[in-house]
Amino acid sequence: MAEPFNAVQERIPADLMTMAGIGKQLLHWQQMSRFCSRCGGQPHQLANSWGKKCADCGSEQFPHIHPCAIVLIRRDDQLLLIRKPEWAPGRYGLVAGFLDVGESLEECAIRETQEETGIEIKNVRYVTSQCWPFPSQLMAGFVADYAGGSIQVDGNEVEDARWFTIGSLPNLPAQRSIARFLIDSYTRID
Ligand SMILES: [Zn+2]
Repeated sequence: MAEPFNAVQERIPADLMTMAGIGKQLLHWQQMSRFCSRCGGQPHQLANSWGKKCADCGSEQFPHIHPCAIVLIRRDDQLLLIRKPEWAPGRYGLVAGFLDVGESLEECAIRETQEETGIEIKNVRYVTSQCWPFPSQLMAGFVADYAGGSIQVDGNEVEDARWFTIGSLPNLPAQRSIARFLIDSYTRID
């Protein structure tokens, strides 16, 4: 029986999930690279690579991977969590978003936090990263401290944002997500 592939399939063994993620990302790349984005010509697969070379203009292209920053924000014994309308009922997660042109990942984390919650952050520190094949992101995970401001959400992209005390966290992202790893790491260490 076919099932949708997504990040909450915790029944699938981790190594199989990794393989499936690679396959999903490569299928996406094949779909997105059927024509040369420079001249519209016909690309051919390069040997020993997932890249392609255009038969007409010669330009080479490789699978597009989109960097995102995801950030755990701390204030004393509290975490700032957000909720998006499309998430499972009651589930809260972390601020995250796509890297913009000209930004560092740290700047991306600061901007996304400001845009999604109205909060200013400081001490933005890199923790770890995760391939996120939905369809082709690389999530760079950060931890940051509250610097100022009060919560403001737009009500569209972000439905709710609030401070949760570590002892009473809501329904959280799936175990294998970088969001959950960041939350668990922080709440375990402190
Ligand atoms: Zn071309």
